[in-house]
Amino acid sequence: MENTRNFVILAHIDHGKSTLADRFLELTETVPKEKMRPQYLDAMDLEQERGITIKMHPVRMVYRPSQILNPKSEILNNLEIRNSKLEIANSEYILNLIDTPGHVDFNYEVSRSLAAVEGAILLVDASKGIQAQTIGNLELAREQNLVIIPVINKIDLAQARIKETESETADLLKISPAEIIKISAKQGTNVEQVLQAVIKKIPPPKVGGGLPSPQPTGLRALIFDSKYDPFKGVLAFVRIFEGEVKAGDKIYLLQAGVESEVRSVGIFQPELSSAAKLSSGEIGFIATGIKTSTKVRVGETLAGSPEVKPLAGYQERQPKVFLSIYPQDANNFNLLKSGLEKLKLTDASLYFKPELKDYNPPTTLPAKGWAPGLGRGFQCGFLGLLHAEIISERLKREFALNIILSTPSVVYKVTTKEGEEIFIYTSADWPAFHQQIDRGQELWVKLQILTPLNYLGQVTELMGNMESSYQKTDYLGPDYNPATASSHPAPLWEAGWDPKVELIYELPLREIITKNFYDKLKSTTQGFASMNYEILGWRPVKLVKLDILILGRKEEVFSRIVPAKEAFQQGKQIVEKLKETLPPQLFSVPLQAAVAGKIIARETIKAQRRDVISPLYGGDYTRKRKLLEKQKKGKKELKEKGRIRIPSRVFLEIFKSE
Ligand code: GDP
Ligand code: MG
Repeated sequence: MENTRNFVILAHIDHGKSTLADRFLELTETVPKEKMRPQYLDAMDLEQERGITIKMHPVRMVYRPSQILNPKSEILNNLEIRNSKLEIANSEYILNLIDTPGHVDFNYEVSRSLAAVEGAILLVDASKGIQAQTIGNLELAREQNLVIIPVINKIDLAQARIKETESETADLLKISPAEIIKISAKQGTNVEQVLQAVIKKIPPPKVGGGLPSPQPTGLRALIFDSKYDPFKGVLAFVRIFEGEVKAGDKIYLLQAGVESEVRSVGIFQPELSSAAKLSSGEIGFIATGIKTSTKVRVGETLAGSPEVKPLAGYQERQPKVFLSIYPQDANNFNLLKSGLEKLKLTDASLYFKPELKDYNPPTTLPAKGWAPGLGRGFQCGFLGLLHAEIISERLKREFALNIILSTPSVVYKVTTKEGEEIFIYTSADWPAFHQQIDRGQELWVKLQILTPLNYLGQVTELMGNMESSYQKTDYLGPDYNPATASSHPAPLWEAGWDPKVELIYELPLREIITKNFYDKLKSTTQGFASMNYEILGWRPVKLVKLDILILGRKEEVFSRIVPAKEAFQQGKQIVEKLKETLPPQLFSVPLQAAVAGKIIARETIKAQRRDVISPLYGGDYTRKRKLLEKQKKGKKELKEKGRIRIPSRVFLEIFKSE
């Protein structure tokens, strides 16, 4: 174990994590040159295509420093590696690199990956400098007491601002700029210095997971990820903290209370390859034989006996964003169902359930999830908006489904007068009698925004238009103080240096989720600002259910739960949009928005006149009369049926968030 190092690369999205991992694979000859392709560890098509890492594969590399050790390296002197050169050079090291999802939606997953390792490379793009998730990730890494190796990437770029990035990073980490390794992951410059720093600075795996254990407890492992295999069942990706595990062993998932027998174990090379056993300190996978992916959760402790004390830090994964998914063609309900079920196998954090228990035929009262023209749908829960986007993209691609997504919402909590707490995921969960409701609550978050000083005005203005409470401002970089800006070292200013500002706000999660906040922030700052948030807890809010009536009849599919103060604005907006998008009928169609039975906004679509008698010019009068009566009767029947067909583009229009 002395020669094993377990680590992660932490970076804001696009700062070069996958590219650096590619160089590591080459340097250690883990992947043969002819098989190498860019972003090798990005497994999904979607990732390759968009060039973002949703999830990178873990990998085990064998590294022999003697192959590449450069005794002249400046950084080696800094790290005092030089004296121990021989000691390093003659050994072989096992380097386990595991991934952390770089996006704020997956914060909990990040913290679990971090618990599985001893060190982290903090990678910063020299053309962008520190961004919000650099800081967010760093905070998580510090909570786990990880050794941090600061690295600045993309020094080959013409627009690289190495000095500024260096001073930002040094300031953030409270270190000297000389300790930061400057690389080009693309060209391979100085990449071997990073591997050497990993060996030198990161300690070998600690045993016991930091928990005191009076006597040996046998197997104890942390699940940091999982994957579904149609033949072997769920593969748990684990870090072993104590004991060992091999095929045939009995295992227990302590939090889920599930027991199983190990089919096989193995390591990541990076493709899965079997091994005789996994021992304390190692990272690998366990084919659990368990068929339900929801039982094998990230953060679980996998043990050899049900009596073992779980490792610290388990937390139920809570979806934060809720929306309904409908097939564009109502006949594709079952296809959508099987698509969601298949995705759930590979992504246990996806939550869904059909919107109706019993399918009500269209002639009975409308129920949530059914509207004329819209089929049955599913209520789905996601970790965040990006997660929702990824799942809907995958439904479209992997199952060739055209789908309609309802407006995203957050979860609310209401307390009834009897003191019962109800979680409201969609309007269907709203109590039938609003008089029963005593009070409502919603989740608040701490939002951190990092913006170049040049865009500070735009960001403050954007925040001013939101329901938010300002907390504080910090300046990144060498003692920047706006009051004494002129005393700042001249060379940086002359180079047009634009210091970064960190802003902290508290606001309802709803403001971020339902108002396209992320897109707005990006567009007002030309992509330069970045953000991160963490949940603070529940705070009071006055909630109402906003209903939409078409032809005087409530169309539940358009109902939504909103803060009382936004009901009028949103109701008005919806009926106006309906008026624009619904096709005209032979009779006039009233459109209304209502709260607790009271109409708060209305519009009318005027009747479209169709001239049924003009083809009969000069014809006999009785025929004309008959036709007119027929038309009248038709209109009346339609009106009595009380519902008009709503084309799917209307749903697309109405569900689009602001
Ligand atoms: P990730 O999202 O952190 O995994 O970032 P990637 O590794 O996918 O890199 C994002 C983009 O930056 C890609 O287009 C890379 O080719 C590019 N990139 C990464 N490292 C370097 C570098 O050292 N120099 C330059 N010029 N581009 C780089
Ligand atoms: Mg990537």
